[in-house]
Amino acid sequence: MARRIAVLGSTGSIGTQTLDVARRHPDKVQIVALAAGRRAEEAFAQAAEFGVHYVALGQEPEGAEPPAGVNVSVGAQAVADLVKLPEVDVVVNALVGAAGLQASYETLRAGKVLALANKESLVVGGDLIMPLAAQVDDQRRAAGIAPAHGPAGALMPIDSEHGAIYQCLIGEAAREVERLWVTASGGPFRGRTRDELREITAAQALAHPTWNMGPKITIDSSTLMNKGLEVIEAHHLFDMPYDRISVVVQPQSAIHSMVEFSDGSVKAHLGTTDMRIPIQYALSYPERWDAPVQPLDFTKLGSLEFAAPDTDTFRCLALARAAGERGGTLPCAMNAANEIAVAAFLAGEGTYLGIAECVEAVMNAHDVQAVESIGQLLEIDAWARAEARKQIR
Ligand code: MG
Repeated sequence: MARRIAVLGSTGSIGTQTLDVARRHPDKVQIVALAAGRRAEEAFAQAAEFGVHYVALGQEPEGAEPPAGVNVSVGAQAVADLVKLPEVDVVVNALVGAAGLQASYETLRAGKVLALANKESLVVGGDLIMPLAAQVDDQRRAAGIAPAHGPAGALMPIDSEHGAIYQCLIGEAAREVERLWVTASGGPFRGRTRDELREITAAQALAHPTWNMGPKITIDSSTLMNKGLEVIEAHHLFDMPYDRISVVVQPQSAIHSMVEFSDGSVKAHLGTTDMRIPIQYALSYPERWDAPVQPLDFTKLGSLEFAAPDTDTFRCLALARAAGERGGTLPCAMNAANEIAVAAFLAGEGTYLGIAECVEAVMNAHDVQAVESIGQLLEIDAWARAEARKQIR
């Protein structure tokens, strides 16, 4: 039976690539619901192509006409309602930023599989999301729908690094895992000094060397904040203490991440840099399906380089790691400040180096609490955004 999928953020980079996977495997994947922010016309075209009956939009469609038979809902609650539809088995959450947290929470609360590209869900709400995922894993085992071996699959990471680590861990005992190695491309400004980064423009920062992604994550990749968020994400997903999660720059992005074991053996996950592979794996697990990508040709790959990240220049990585280590609500405040600072930089209102300064100022101003509820996190998120706006320079 085909897996029935809701795609949140269907008109974005991950969303459209998810639909690419669905196009290639119509017998295995059925798209049943779509959520998009502003691009109503595009979402309606997707609904028509895939025969989707439910579309949730971030704002009114303004003139765009839905295809016949499509149920359109608008607003934040519309997305939360979409994931609870009985027709939905799997939710691909590719919303941008902290807005994705509520959808992740509702997905797991409804007992559905969460294929997660929205890393902020775990960065901000990992303390709430992971216990829910464990509950859904138990439900899947009890219902006999979990794979015979390996994780029960309630929470499937779509990030390439976490997809890689997930695969390296299958068949391994948690107590024998020594270290997670999260690889980083290093971004377009690898090797530059702080002085050379002072005048960087949004256009320069948007040119990523290896991965083709949306603007927010591309800026985060250039500042290494993306890697910092991924360290926090790995901590939650794989229940690994921070001192056993290392970041290594691997400029070719051929190695998507690695796991080191207690006997010194290291498993690495390699492959073509195409996000459709990790997206598809999150949907196909525990199976593998054919993918529409060129395989890696090792005879043409040349050399693989490795280097330590420069956290003095790219301070966002160190700030995010510090936020994760302190834990509680600090990652929530850190993430919200980063979202505001990146938006300001993209709008030409803030500077490139100002992003880390803003994040640090908000972290210092935040009174850290233990994570208790989504409502509490939303309040802190709002406070941190207001605080961050005062720090744009
Ligand atoms: Mg990644």
